Amino acid sequence: MSLRRISILGSTGSIGRSTLDVIDHLGGRDAFEVRALTGMGNIALLAEQAKRVGAGFAATADPARYGELKDALAGSGIETGAGPEAIVEAASRATDIAMAGIVGIAGLAPTLAAAKTGADIALANKECLVSAGALFVEAVKEGGGKLLPVDSEHNAIFQVLQNDQRHAVERIILTASGGPFRSMSRDEMAKVTPKSAAAHPNWSMGLKISIDSASMFNKALEMIEAQHLFDVAPEAIEVIVHPQSVIHSMVGYTDGSVLAQLGAPDMRTAIGYAIGHPRRISLPVERLDFAKLAKLEFHAPDSERFPALALARRAMERGHMQGCILNSAKEIALEAFIAERIGFLDMADIVEAVMDEMAGLDEASSIEDVFAADSEARRRALERVG
Ligand code: NAD
Ligand code: MG
Repeated sequence: MSLRRISILGSTGSIGRSTLDVIDHLGGRDAFEVRALTGMGNIALLAEQAKRVGAGFAATADPARYGELKDALAGSGIETGAGPEAIVEAASRATDIAMAGIVGIAGLAPTLAAAKTGADIALANKECLVSAGALFVEAVKEGGGKLLPVDSEHNAIFQVLQNDQRHAVERIILTASGGPFRSMSRDEMAKVTPKSAAAHPNWSMGLKISIDSASMFNKALEMIEAQHLFDVAPEAIEVIVHPQSVIHSMVGYTDGSVLAQLGAPDMRTAIGYAIGHPRRISLPVERLDFAKLAKLEFHAPDSERFPALALARRAMERGHMQGCILNSAKEIALEAFIAERIGFLDMADIVEAVMDEMAGLDEASSIEDVFAADSEARRRALERVG
């Protein structure tokens, strides 16, 4: 029997490492042919991963690190590449499934390239949907592969969305942990540091998504992601704060039923569900012990302290590439916050201003339009960061 072929875009990141962990658990090289791995700054890890799984191709997004990667893999027979084009090349190699685990809109071009090959797309990179929306969904459809959501909330919805009951879907309820500043006052939030913002109470994730969880920009992106993924109206998408992160999300139906997916906060469940689809697989994740859970809490989100949610709603209602603009401006604001050039609450102000300035753009008719809006939103956000 031929091995299942997989590529992992962003293999050195949090999602990438968990994906390799699932692959190891499923038998590693005996079960998978790893076609390509990609990373950026952590060359030692990328090379170690590539050797361990016997990858066909390893690429770093950073052209300056090419020599280092080539040396680390000398004699291994593994092809190497560097720079954004090499990431797209890695993504273009024929494969059965591609894990889209690059962070930010940097993941859009490679994920589109993977979609074009007809591969199934295991989508962790929510920015593909937030920025390119229907164009991205269309590209995957045209390629002929399946779109398999890996973001835990969307994976949960994917698990409980009954396709033969689509007519009766009334609401999509995204759960949010509330992040480390869930109970902090706005005055205190104005002074928080990147380090405290990155300390997520339940999930272990990459730096940027952890800080986005603290500001709830992550949930904002996820609202827009859900809109495109499940083709639902903005008003059908709700967010509820659920600090225990046990319920990963829910679907409400017109008969009053609510279906939820529960589990320990471990991305390997969602990753394994996507890799195994349509068959569930066995995974070594923690099992829920309901007697020990004691209580599950729910709170309405506070839109005053977390303006990102209202911005997402505005973006969904406005359309006209406001999702892309929200994300691109957010990426610049987030980098400025990480560099301690702006405060935590300034991020939302910058995003709002750029969204308003760029309101009424034509709807994107091609991916080039998306990249143009992205550049323009970045330029405007950079101006505001100073
Ligand atoms: P991470 O920062 O841990 O890893 C990011 C990966 O992308 C790394 O391999 C890095 O080398 C690569 N990368 C960074 N910049 C790049 C660039 N410019 N070009 C090419 N590659 C680049 O991030 P993560 O937490 O693994 O998140 C990855 C994606 O998955 C994000 O879109 C995030 O929102 C989404 N996601 C993550 C989690 C999680 O638990 N970590 C959960 C849900 C969704
Ligand atoms: Mg999520």
